[in-house]
Amino acid sequence: MGTRTVNHHEDVIILGDGAAGVAAAHASLRLGVRPLLISLGNGATTLYSGCLDHGVWNLHPRSSSLDERQKEFIDAIDIWCVDPEKTRVATLAGVVRTADAADRALLNLASHKNETILVPRIDRPNWDADFLARSWSEDLWCREQGLRFESFDASSLDDDRMRFGSDTEIAFHLDSPEGRTKFGEHLSAEVQRHGGGKSVLLGPWLGIDTPVASILTNHIGIQIGEACAGLGSTAGARWEHAANRWLTQQRITRIQDRVQRLEQVDGDWNVHVSQSKRPYQAKAVVVATGGIAGGGIILTSGEPQEGNEQSFSPAHPFSLSYRGPLVLTVDGRISETVASLHGFNLERLAWPRDDHGVWWMDRINVLRDGVQVLDASNNPLAGLFVAGELALKRPAASLASIATGVEAGTAAARYVLTNA
Ligand SMILES: Cc1cc2nc3c(=O)[nH]c(=O)nc-3n(C[C@H](O)[C@H](O)[C@H](O)COP(=O)(O)OP(=O)(O)OC[C@H]3O[C@@H](n4cnc5c(N)ncnc54)[C@H](O)[C@@H]3O)c2cc1C
Repeated sequence: MGTRTVNHHEDVIILGDGAAGVAAAHASLRLGVRPLLISLGNGATTLYSGCLDHGVWNLHPRSSSLDERQKEFIDAIDIWCVDPEKTRVATLAGVVRTADAADRALLNLASHKNETILVPRIDRPNWDADFLARSWSEDLWCREQGLRFESFDASSLDDDRMRFGSDTEIAFHLDSPEGRTKFGEHLSAEVQRHGGGKSVLLGPWLGIDTPVASILTNHIGIQIGEACAGLGSTAGARWEHAANRWLTQQRITRIQDRVQRLEQVDGDWNVHVSQSKRPYQAKAVVVATGGIAGGGIILTSGEPQEGNEQSFSPAHPFSLSYRGPLVLTVDGRISETVASLHGFNLERLAWPRDDHGVWWMDRINVLRDGVQVLDASNNPLAGLFVAGELALKRPAASLASIATGVEAGTAAARYVLTNA
């Protein structure tokens, strides 16, 4: 297909702008190959908790195994702190957890010992200071460290925004110098009224674009930080803003569109999207469209279609959200293999975890060798690479997604440089 019939001709196109896609963009740019991103946006990375792990946090050993390229990406995004041996955070579920890396706004309990940490009583639906303080105080590790949590009255913080606003609304408000200064003054006064204290643990409210935790800590002389939220909170918004900032600084173009089809034409890859008649074309493509949470994999009905009730053709319970030569596998086996009348044996998948504790959603990925995508006959699809949740055998986690993103971005850039 000539360039007149395509929208853009690029060296590398990355599909998906979650942690894996942006890490792939960083790795590609590092080798001098400027990528184009195409994504709908708002995937699993936007929902993450604020902690970054190599696997399920309480099921895998802590690890600092990041190579130079991964460290450079983490530094470029500039919102995380990596210290697997010394990261402990309190969560809004009332437990204290380890992490391989974490959002810098979270209060790292590992740097506290023999101390009482204060938790303000604020009248908010998702913030029960009495319950949280009691629950964190009962954590075994906290007891060993001599850490206690104590709730205290903080009625001057209790305005309408605090009562009714979302976590991100409060965080945006504290990005503004006026909002931040007023909040800091009130917090400091309430702590003094309570009899003083060295540290305060708050909800996920400490800014989106500004490092409010460290600004307020320096300003009011009390160490403040956040507890980690379970799902879709300020940490995800911070990621979104930080990724945008980096992409803008690097002048990397991002097209917001739905990928519909991926096809190989005369050695190039055409990416068809919903809002343009002409495809985007590239020498190499990195597929980083995530799993079920990110929209890269969709559940499809295994039931016979209307008017075709006696259909004996196999139907798959899930598929990619676009067409292309990629082959989905479960536990490394091609899912197109018929295991029951209506497709892959859903009864096996329906049980949430396998014998090794892996959720079934985490067992679906693309047929590949490392980050190189393979066709159904196990042959490499030249120039097509996969990253993130689609490339993980083990349960999805941010650092694992970043690691495969870096690998795939590097492989795509090298492919372009060798085939220029
Ligand atoms: C609720 C929740 C909590 C989590 N907590 C943690 C945690 O504590 N620690 C941890 O390490 N990990 C956690 N994770 C996992 C971690 O967030 C993910 O593994 C990681 O962010 C996945 O990154 P990704 O880039 O592969 O996918 P995603 O971030 O999902 O990105 C995929 C992108 O592809 C785009 N896309 C998909 N299909 C299409 C299409 N057809 N066309 C165009 N664009 C498309 C999506 O819009 C999205 O932007 C959590 C995940 C969730 C959902």
